[in-house]
Amino acid sequence: MRVTGTAQRDAWVARTWPPVEEVRAGLWSVPVPIPENPLRYTLTYLIATDSALLVIDPGWDTDAGWNALSDGLKTTGASPEDVSGIVVTHMHPDHHGMSGRLRDASGAWIAMHPAERETLAMMRAQGADMAAGDRAWLRGCGVPEEIAAELNMGSGNGPTFAGMVDPDRLLEHGDLVPVDGRRLRAVWTPGHTPGHLCLHEETENVLLTGDHVLPRISPNIGLQPHAAEPPLAAYLRSLEFVASYDSAEALPAHEYRFAGLASRVRMLLAHHERRCDEVTEILRMLGPATIWQVTTQMTWSRGWSAVTGFMRRAALAEAGAHLQHLVATGRVTVAVSGLAEIFAVAT
Ligand SMILES: [Zn+2]
Repeated sequence: MRVTGTAQRDAWVARTWPPVEEVRAGLWSVPVPIPENPLRYTLTYLIATDSALLVIDPGWDTDAGWNALSDGLKTTGASPEDVSGIVVTHMHPDHHGMSGRLRDASGAWIAMHPAERETLAMMRAQGADMAAGDRAWLRGCGVPEEIAAELNMGSGNGPTFAGMVDPDRLLEHGDLVPVDGRRLRAVWTPGHTPGHLCLHEETENVLLTGDHVLPRISPNIGLQPHAAEPPLAAYLRSLEFVASYDSAEALPAHEYRFAGLASRVRMLLAHHERRCDEVTEILRMLGPATIWQVTTQMTWSRGWSAVTGFMRRAALAEAGAHLQHLVATGRVTVAVSGLAEIFAVAT
């Protein structure tokens, strides 16, 4: 793997702000801030043709974000009103959050994968019932009651999906984004979310990877109760799929751009294999255990005690996704005891 976005990487290391860059003729990257998040910014991409202006992943909806996006558009000689189309790689608020605001300002259409529209609808529908549904999920994971109260999404801890808008167009795997003068093809990569899309600009041979493949961190693969297939299995398959784009430069939605997708994919596959081994080892040591018990024993980059608040949910969901994968592949068994699921190494 080779870092190609060296100015972005230098800014990442120095914790300064990366520049707006014209990565290819008519294709810019614009850092849009994410409030109070260690990732700090989303790399939004702007793609101009003679007749159209696309924004890929407008970013988190704040005034600072809006100003950063407007400044980026100004660099290209445009303003928010000029945008004609918006494509989101997935519906997380650091990608899709500002889409509605940008559509209001410009009249642009918004496109996403159909599975992502469904996920968004599901998250919104859960809104009212979130606290009760979430309590049941946390009990199923074996989270102690006093800790569950802190982690409940219904208590205002989690991101809000209420203000996020539906798409006007859908992009299936293999579809070209409807814009003259560019061949920008949708590549469906479920895993991080059920309808995650990468976008391949075929003439320039660059792959916008969203959160599917990032150069440094491994994207969170959590449990998705409503997903059509277990997320980790989907993610591993989607990873292998994008390894075939090895000749393309990868333009991720966070951190910095790079070349060498196949080697990065191998690292991520190995990471998940190690994670599965670790989870199996923990079960061997603990004996039958809940997701919560396994989660607290796993290695976290700054230690479990530093995993607090909402990050604990992501950790739980990640442990759960690995346990579910191990069950599906026959290495682990699961049984329900009372309200919680109990996992054990298969004998
Ligand atoms: Zn993201």
